[in-house]
Amino acid sequence: ASKAAGRNRFRLFDMGLRDRLEMRWDLERDLSHALVENALEVWFQPIYALDARTLVGLEALVRWQHPRLGWIAPPDLIAAAAMAGLTESLLRFILDQVCRMMQILRAEGLGTVRVAMNVSPREMAQIPVDEIVIARLGALGLPPAQLEIEITEETALDLGAVQGKLQALSRAGIRVALDDFGIGYSSLSSLRQLRADRIKIDRSFVTGLSASDDKRGLVLAVLGLGNLLGLEVVAEGVESQEDLQTLQAMGCPFLQGYHLGRPMPVSTLEATLFANRTQAA
Ligand code: C2E
Ligand code: MG
Ligand code: MG
Ligand code: MG
Repeated sequence: ASKAAGRNRFRLFDMGLRDRLEMRWDLERDLSHALVENALEVWFQPIYALDARTLVGLEALVRWQHPRLGWIAPPDLIAAAAMAGLTESLLRFILDQVCRMMQILRAEGLGTVRVAMNVSPREMAQIPVDEIVIARLGALGLPPAQLEIEITEETALDLGAVQGKLQALSRAGIRVALDDFGIGYSSLSSLRQLRADRIKIDRSFVTGLSASDDKRGLVLAVLGLGNLLGLEVVAEGVESQEDLQTLQAMGCPFLQGYHLGRPMPVSTLEATLFANRTQAA
């Protein structure tokens, strides 16, 4: 089932404009039902340390299998939620699943494993994400440092508009990661202004780097930048053993990708990752 989520995905941009508009309406209506009926899921993808064995994080990725259209790409889901006025409901739903995972990890003795949640700049601009997240952690007694917010820069103005909220999250002890680093408008100064703790190198620079001088050069540059600014660097999109070994030789501190582990539902995580760890201990 975890593999199916990556294939034959339904994507809005594959369709003509008219179809797209009608489909949007369907998605908005169906999404509000899905939220009420608990048809949405949050899956988690492991993030490992340099040794590719030590689990250091889990990234939460929303999943929705539409009854007719199949798996909906998360960005389309987020866009449909915005148009249906469901941005806050969706964020709260995902946050609840994220908090549940933090509790599961603590119960497993894995309280140092951080859970990362994606928030788009649009969501961040539209609703008081900082207040919602900080209040929820407080109510559940969960340590802010166990949570990370991943934010993607989509347009040049995005991050400036949400800077205050990112700083509030950071001041509360929640970690901030700049996602898809290298493909957007991310500037060196924005890294400081946003109080980012971490950069996630976009997978377009990572996948296949063992066979590409250009990609290796770029990844090395980002690793150097991370060292210089005291930022943790995560490579996303590690899809092969060759790429993994190359990244390890370069000293990339954190690694994520299909080769190391796919996004998976909580039940699979409990049956595999956590179960294996218990045996090893
Ligand atoms: P992202 O945050 O950069 O997440 C990584 C995406 O790359 C995920 O796709 C993941 O399944 C995929 N991926 C991980 N490892 C590999 C690999 O080795 N190779 C390849 N080809 N892909 C890999 P997904 O789940 O489809 O999510 C796409 C994007 O949608 C995410 O990119 C994120 O920006 C957004 N997204 C996902 N879940 C949420 C959410 O709950 N809220 C918000 N706001 N955005 C979300
Ligand atoms: Mg992400
Ligand atoms: Mg990314
Ligand atoms: Mg992405």
